[in-house]
Amino acid sequence: MPSVAATYYDGIVSRRQTVEVSLHPQGLAIFSQDGLVAATWPYADIRRIEGFRGSGLAVTRVPEPGSTAEPRLEIADPVFVAELSARAPLTLTGKAAGRRETRSVVIWAMAAVVSLLGLAYWGLPAIAGRIAPLVPASVEARLGAAMDPQIRAEFGGPSGMKTCTAPAGLAALAELVGRYEKLANLHVSLKVVVVDNPMVNAFALPGGYIYLMRGLIQRARSPDEVAGVLGHEIGHVKFRHGLQSAIQSGGLGFLLGTIFGDFAGGTAILLASRTLLSSAFSRDAEREADAFGVDLMLKGGGNPEGLAGFFGSAGGGGAPGALNWLTSHPASAEREAAIRRLAQNRPVLSPALTPDQWQALRGICQTTS
Ligand SMILES: [Zn+2]
Repeated sequence: MPSVAATYYDGIVSRRQTVEVSLHPQGLAIFSQDGLVAATWPYADIRRIEGFRGSGLAVTRVPEPGSTAEPRLEIADPVFVAELSARAPLTLTGKAAGRRETRSVVIWAMAAVVSLLGLAYWGLPAIAGRIAPLVPASVEARLGAAMDPQIRAEFGGPSGMKTCTAPAGLAALAELVGRYEKLANLHVSLKVVVVDNPMVNAFALPGGYIYLMRGLIQRARSPDEVAGVLGHEIGHVKFRHGLQSAIQSGGLGFLLGTIFGDFAGGTAILLASRTLLSSAFSRDAEREADAFGVDLMLKGGGNPEGLAGFFGSAGGGGAPGALNWLTSHPASAEREAAIRRLAQNRPVLSPALTPDQWQALRGICQTTS
């Protein structure tokens, strides 16, 4: 994708510089017209700066060995920010966050040890529910970053997973995601991609990774249906259901791996990723995610009828196979009714997308990469 303008501070002198940034396989490239700035930040080293009040995203990079500079980059372009978010884990940084997390790491490690003892009494599902709230957001973000490649391999085959990148579609999606994300007040940043895959499906990993399948967008009869599914998946992120599921399926190996901070490439990660793809969350978790999605739509645009209707319409004719969204999200009259009850007497403020945005989102897979 083309380069865009950004604001750069090198972290040594406080001078503000206008630079160009672009995305490359090796990382985020930063350069200035006068040649004074030229750097490439590997995606894994990029961190989001907490509390940025401007529009867009402020990031820094973990210091290179021997360097104490804290460079800062502010990017306003929403499409670029969405693209960067899809590539970089973007865990939070900032000293306040650091201190808070050091404390919670200790608490969390203690909780994990206690839980190992408690396993025999309560079993893994109950433990997962107790542990998940104690896991620091940075640990969850790292877990998601480790699972993302597994998911991409699972869907991509040898050539890798293709995501849909038509610029107008990305812009429409980023605008919708941004609106919901602001309201959701999440512990991690969202990384939403549309996967070039005919399945009528969507799912969320720990750490804010959400995958919407092309088939879901094609099947939807209105932007409300896509927005409803997106809001529902954001609910899974909010309540850390993916993290609970990962703790549950990864078992002891996963718990220990999390404590010692090494889960890249582990069998536990592979297992946890596969489980997330193939199994359903609990009914309570689904209800929670539904309610959260309804609330996001009523505050951020969209008609919750879209979420309710999705269960009714796509249910019967859904693509066969275990990976249909409605297989892991069984259509039920009870759920549909619950969604309608939540939305009752609450006005729909604005549409999820304008007609132009909806058309752009429908065409998002005209370009893939
Ligand atoms: Zn769900």
